[in-house]
Formats: sequence, C-alpha cells, structure tokens
Amino acid sequence: MALSHLKENPLSRKKVSNNQVRGIARKRMGILVRLSEKEALGGNMARAKRYMTLARRISARNKVPMPPGALYCRRCSTPLVPGSNCRVRLRDHRVVTHCLECGSVRRAPYLMEIKERRTCRQGR
Ligand SMILES: [Zn+2]
Repeated sequence: MALSHLKENPLSRKKVSNNQVRGIARKRMGILVRLSEKEALGGNMARAKRYMTLARRISARNKVPMPPGALYCRRCSTPLVPGSNCRVRLRDHRVVTHCLECGSVRRAPYLMEIKERRTCRQGR
C-alpha cells in the first residue's frame, strides 16, 4: 500500500521524462528572461543580471537553448538594451554588438541577407 503510493509520487525523479524537464526549463527560462528585461528597462541592473544568470544556468544544466530573441552579454549576462547599455553597428558585413557594461564584443555575420539581396538582383 505504502509502496504503490511511492510509485505514484509525482516528485520521484524517474517519473518525469527528459522532454517534460526541458518543457519546464523552457517555461522558467522564459519567465526569468522577461523579468530580467523588465528590470533592465526599469534601471535595476543588478537584479536584471541576476535573473539572466539564473536563466543561463537553467539553460546549461538542462541543455536547452536560451529563448530566441533574448539579447544578453555572453560574458557578464547583462540583458542588452540597444541605445542604453549596448552599441550595435554594422561593420564588414557583420552585426557588431558591444556590451557597455564589460566591454565585450560580439560579431554576427549577416550572410543570408546579403545572399538574398544578390538573388533578388539577378531575378530582375
Ligand atoms: Zn558584458
């Protein structure tokens, strides 16, 4: 009797599949990222950083990618708000993002857009 009760315990680890765990992780990361962005816009940078760090920790532990569109510094976990604490420039076919908190630089190429433009021109 007591044993069957144990088996149905929803907190027992083996009952929860990896997929379920990732779903929960994704949900919690979404909440943390939203809170972090809210705090960053409100000006409480320490708290914003803390929320983003927690979200990244969940991401690393559960092997779930960070929510798409979450803009943050890879080095210091600060949520980046263009015009406020980060500088975004286009340079040498790359989007160059400077974190103004720690000075780290991130470069992302936009080759797909360049290729697309090229094919559009050929079509004409
Ligand atoms: Zn930074």
